[in-house]
Amino acid sequence: MLDCAIIGGGPAGLTAGLYTTRGGLKNVSMFEMGMPGGQITQSSEIENYPGFFEHGKTGMDFMDTWQEQCFHFGLKHEMKKVKRVAKTGEHFTVTLEGGETVKSMTVIVCTGSTPKRAGFKGEDEFFGKGVSTCATCDGFFYKDKPVTVLGGGDTALEEAYYLSNICSDVYVVHRRDEFRAAPPTLDRVMRKENIHLVTNSVIEEAYGDAMGLQGVKIKNVVTGEVTDMPNTGLFVFVGHNVRNEVLKDEKGEFICKINDWGQVIVDLSMKTSVPGLFAAGDIRIEAPKQVISAAGDGSIAALQVISYIQEQQ
Ligand code: FAD
Ligand code: NAP
Repeated sequence: MLDCAIIGGGPAGLTAGLYTTRGGLKNVSMFEMGMPGGQITQSSEIENYPGFFEHGKTGMDFMDTWQEQCFHFGLKHEMKKVKRVAKTGEHFTVTLEGGETVKSMTVIVCTGSTPKRAGFKGEDEFFGKGVSTCATCDGFFYKDKPVTVLGGGDTALEEAYYLSNICSDVYVVHRRDEFRAAPPTLDRVMRKENIHLVTNSVIEEAYGDAMGLQGVKIKNVVTGEVTDMPNTGLFVFVGHNVRNEVLKDEKGEFICKINDWGQVIVDLSMKTSVPGLFAAGDIRIEAPKQVISAAGDGSIAALQVISYIQEQQ
């Protein structure tokens, strides 16, 4: 029986592993289906994590030392995909892909949330090299420069507003002429002088070279006209896939409370609605979707796991 099963090995899962093992738990396994590190390993540069400020260092460089530090105190990494988590009596059963099961007293789910891709030419090629899904992370790289935002929902318009305080101009490209975003958000955006709404339009192509994105071509779907927008960053906000599948039972019902957007409802202690089950990082409600906050969540969940186990004894 494990003391704690951690599912996902991004910043939240690794930090949860560090704090549970360093806090005295002997039997902690982190189930990560790939190499530990999480989404940030796709980033070409990170400059908003305090203490790490080296120009030109990638997300992969950044995560390099995390693993060594986290495994030093006894965290075990099982390179396996988790299929399902179930509460069975007082404990949890973690079912792995292939059918193997593992028992654990507690579980911390840290499987993250992945931004959806829009599907235009060049999106994958320049992802993390000029095509971004995070204004907080990458907006500052375009200080006083123009940027393009794709999407017409609340996220796209809220992030466009955030970018408008940093960048010279923000061009919001949306495929229809009506916005999905809430009317007050749209009103606020329309009042901002440096935000320009480019409706009935799609990104036809993101182009660039070995240095990264150089520009985008925007096509008006009504007139067919294509406009070249050179020297712009491109921010894509077309929704998220919350990776909550492990929290569904065999009938497809969630085992804990989830909001309308698939995010796990937790309190400030990262407790879910099921005692002994915690969620941390981008998978939770109101997640700022930053490495520092995911790591913070992981530490909070780990300390709660230690208290929970003590209370059970
Ligand atoms: P994730 O990092 O998403 O990790 C989840 C892990 O769970 C993954 O490794 C996945 O393989 C694993 N997993 C999922 N399902 C299963 C399963 N069923 N079984 C086993 N394993 C599973 N943040 C910043 O603070 N600053 C930045 O500059 C920045 N730049 C970014 C640039 C890019 C290109 C991207 C994509 C993100 C960036 N972010 C940045 C955001 C940051 O990466 C995330 O907020 C952070 O990684 C979230 O951590 P997490 O641990 O919650 O989830
Ligand atoms: P969303 O509401 O699903 O909006 C996605 C947007 O991207 C839509 O405008 C959609 O266009 C567009 N889109 C989707 N696929 C595309 C593609 N392939 N190419 C081009 N455009 C594409 O996603 P979201 O904005 O991330 O919001 C998710 C949920 O969170 C929503 O319910 C939202 O209300 C909520 N949210 C709330 C707040 C808040 O209350 N403050 C903040 C953020 C998010 P169409 O409109 O044409 O479909």
